[in-house]
Amino acid sequence: MQSDVVIVGGGAIGAAAAYFLRAHPRACSVTVIERDPTYQWASTPRASGGVRRLFALPENIELSNYSIPFFERFETDMAVGGEPAAINFKKGGYLFIVPPGAVDNLRRNFETQKAHGVNVVLLDQKGLKDTFPSMIVDDLGAGVHSPDDGWLDPHSVLQGLRKKAQALGAQFINDEVVGLETSERAVRAVTLKSGRQVRAGAVINAAGAWAKDICAMVGWQVPIEPMRRYEHYFETEEKIEPLPYIKDVNRLAFRPEGKGYSGGVPTLDEPRGFNFDIDHGYFEQVVWPALAARFPQFERTKEKNTMPGLYDQNEFDASPIIGPWSGHLDNFYLMAGFSGHGLMHAPGCGRAIAELILDGAFRTIDLTRLGWSRVPDGRPYAETGII
Ligand SMILES: Cc1cc2nc3c(=O)[nH]c(=O)nc-3n(C[C@H](O)[C@H](O)[C@H](O)COP(=O)(O)OP(=O)(O)OC[C@H]3O[C@@H](n4cnc5c(N)ncnc54)[C@H](O)[C@@H]3O)c2cc1C
Repeated sequence: MQSDVVIVGGGAIGAAAAYFLRAHPRACSVTVIERDPTYQWASTPRASGGVRRLFALPENIELSNYSIPFFERFETDMAVGGEPAAINFKKGGYLFIVPPGAVDNLRRNFETQKAHGVNVVLLDQKGLKDTFPSMIVDDLGAGVHSPDDGWLDPHSVLQGLRKKAQALGAQFINDEVVGLETSERAVRAVTLKSGRQVRAGAVINAAGAWAKDICAMVGWQVPIEPMRRYEHYFETEEKIEPLPYIKDVNRLAFRPEGKGYSGGVPTLDEPRGFNFDIDHGYFEQVVWPALAARFPQFERTKEKNTMPGLYDQNEFDASPIIGPWSGHLDNFYLMAGFSGHGLMHAPGCGRAIAELILDGAFRTIDLTRLGWSRVPDGRPYAETGII
């Protein structure tokens, strides 16, 4: 079997890449190898679903500026055979809140966001209290509210991208990549667990938290590690005004969900590894105190459900690595290291990789600075402020 592009991993990133490659005017055959079509351990269906433009790096803001309107049109644009692709997009807004010491940084980011056309409102302590009266603001210096951001259902996004890519001719194969065959600075084929081989013109590594293992098959050492993070569902009997997706500098992040709320407190202290165990003490000891300190209505809240999932954490600078292993295997592309933002940026990154492979250069958003070379060159390209 032969394919112009073979994609390893069919999560949100791999499926988006497949869709944009097939939607590109230049025709190419696309094969996605996904070992688990139920996506039991994949990160995408375990994501919180937040989509926001509140970043500091221009690339991230532009990726959101493209991806969020894409999600707003998703239901109709990704429809297949007249069947709408609902993703339950809720334009509930985002709110970043910071203590006085971080206000200058927040304001700088706010100016950058405004310069990129984002609808953002800077709120001082009083403005925060006036807008969200239930929130305890005594320790806060300011916040930035982005009313056009929101959240959606990650599983539906994945299925919608996958089905549309398939409808456009991408082939999804249920198998596991166990090896990569190379010669003369190029990947020539992927070897599958079933024993089959797929010859490839180019290979994209979109294996998320497993991306490092795929790179290791050709001796490419990348600083991407699996990092467990919990998403909790909790409720409160007491009324709170409608809330946006709230994030603070202590990494508390949550949003409304059904009758309750969904969110958590990811920590970089988490040991790296493929760990899906649940420590129910984490909600009690870390998440609940953070919630109760921000909203008195959460004083008596209880964890109703906890779902563990993995970040594909880039230990170098927590920004994704997008692009080829230039100078080594020029047709081997990495799209991983999203460190918590992969779902929201899947459309923008999918379009970018399609341009890079089929046009030979980024056309719409220049992601050169997110390429691999910054790692060996020791030039981190990190988000500032809350991530
Ligand atoms: C709790 C939690 C909350 C999050 N919240 C958000 C959020 O609010 N917003 C946001 O944008 N992002 C969020 N994220 C991050 C987001 O989930 C990821 O960045 C994104 O899903 C990555 O997509 P992916 O396709 O790269 O990875 P995955 O969805 O993990 O897909 C990778 C696929 O590769 C397959 N695979 C691996 N190895 C092989 C192999 N050898 N052969 C074949 N297939 C293979 C796996 O089976 C898997 O299906 C969150 C993550 C977690 C864990």
